[in-house]
Amino acid sequence: MNPASDVHGIGDGRVLISGGGIAGLTLAILLRESGWDPVVIERAPAMRTEGYMMDFFGTGWDVAERMGLVREIREVRYPIDALEYVDKSGSPTFPAVPIERVRRAFGGKYTYLRRSDLERILFHRASGAGVPVLFDTTIRSVQETGAGVQVTFSDGTSDTFRLLFGADGVHSRVRELVFGRESQFDRFLGYYIAGFHVPRREYGIGRSLKIYEEPGRVLWCYPLDEQSMDAVYFFRHDDVGRLAHEERLAFVRTQFAGAGWIAEQVLQDVPAAEPPYFDAMTQIGMPAWQTGRIALLGDACGCLTPLAGQGSHMAMAGAYVLSRELQRSGGDHRRAFPAYERFLKPFVTKKQDDAKRFAHQFVPASRLQMAIRYPLLRMTYSNLFIGRFLASFGAKSILTEYA
Ligand SMILES: Cc1cc2nc3c(=O)[nH]c(=O)nc-3n(C[C@H](O)[C@H](O)[C@H](O)COP(=O)(O)OP(=O)(O)OC[C@H]3O[C@@H](n4cnc5c(N)ncnc54)[C@H](O)[C@@H]3O)c2cc1C
Repeated sequence: MNPASDVHGIGDGRVLISGGGIAGLTLAILLRESGWDPVVIERAPAMRTEGYMMDFFGTGWDVAERMGLVREIREVRYPIDALEYVDKSGSPTFPAVPIERVRRAFGGKYTYLRRSDLERILFHRASGAGVPVLFDTTIRSVQETGAGVQVTFSDGTSDTFRLLFGADGVHSRVRELVFGRESQFDRFLGYYIAGFHVPRREYGIGRSLKIYEEPGRVLWCYPLDEQSMDAVYFFRHDDVGRLAHEERLAFVRTQFAGAGWIAEQVLQDVPAAEPPYFDAMTQIGMPAWQTGRIALLGDACGCLTPLAGQGSHMAMAGAYVLSRELQRSGGDHRRAFPAYERFLKPFVTKKQDDAKRFAHQFVPASRLQMAIRYPLLRMTYSNLFIGRFLASFGAKSILTEYA
């Protein structure tokens, strides 16, 4: 396909991608490979390093395999061998689940890595392919004309592109400028998440992902190396609106006051300068993901929340399907964009519904629920049932249904 030959657009294949995260970088690579000329703009001043561990399998693995990225993804290693639910003294509530058992259940096509690892791998591939990634840059205004999309950037300069993609995450600027206020599309699920990268002390983390639960609040801890670890806090709370950066740590400390295991201790030890990852668990649901020459992808149009554990998979699938549809249609966005939405949206909607239902399992509501839960979890993670459990959790790539 030669986009420049398309009589429907402006005369070249220059497209703008707002957001250099998983969705934006995947799309940039795939469009570059099929002859387009993508430019990525990213609000952050450099590649972001904050993040948390993600499970990577199913659809995400499938896209990575199609892009030839699996070797690099497999090379990312962390000293985590098992998954353990612990009680308030840190003792396991049932025997640890070896990660190898999970990997086997996915037929070997499973790993875990931080969001920043995946972004780094994608960034290197995109840069190597000659995709410009402009940091510290956002869009101030957007105007679609018959011939293209005119964009004014944060530095006051303007440019015209044939297509514009909003891959700028759950609080997407492109979505706001083109489709309207976030409040029309967001659905707060009643939970918050806060993640901290902290020095490892005598917490007894060992080599496992440890999960500690109390009614309404949950802590995940896992080692990154000998010196550091991540602590990720999930808790139930009414909507508090946007909290300023400097208010967040104090807010999380209040929510975990009196909590067991190391939940309070770690929060006391968080370096004051550590920027927390903090967000409300908010899904994005939109009647349409695209209009004219502008399309959204990833969390910008279909945020699942971490409750679904497959946001990066859907971000990569969105990029894959968009690039394929543009290729198939000879660069005609009028056919490609609706086809992309038609295929992907039902899967994302289903995963969002599943995540909503799963929310009260993720953060237990009562001691009674916890008491019932551990025998069930133990059974679910057993050799006998783990395959069936994971099959219902997105082990199969949705792209097997994409013709
Ligand atoms: C704790 C946690 C655990 C998770 N676990 C998993 C998991 O196990 N598996 C999984 O698949 N997913 C998981 N996810 C979800 C996954 O990380 C996201 O769904 C995925 O990263 C979405 O990719 P994205 O590119 O659409 O958005 P993002 O990763 O948010 O990227 C958006 C990019 O746009 C940039 N940006 C924002 N605004 C602008 C602007 N105005 N202009 C320019 N750039 C802008 C941002 O800086 C960012 O780089 C988890 C998420 C959380 C929070």
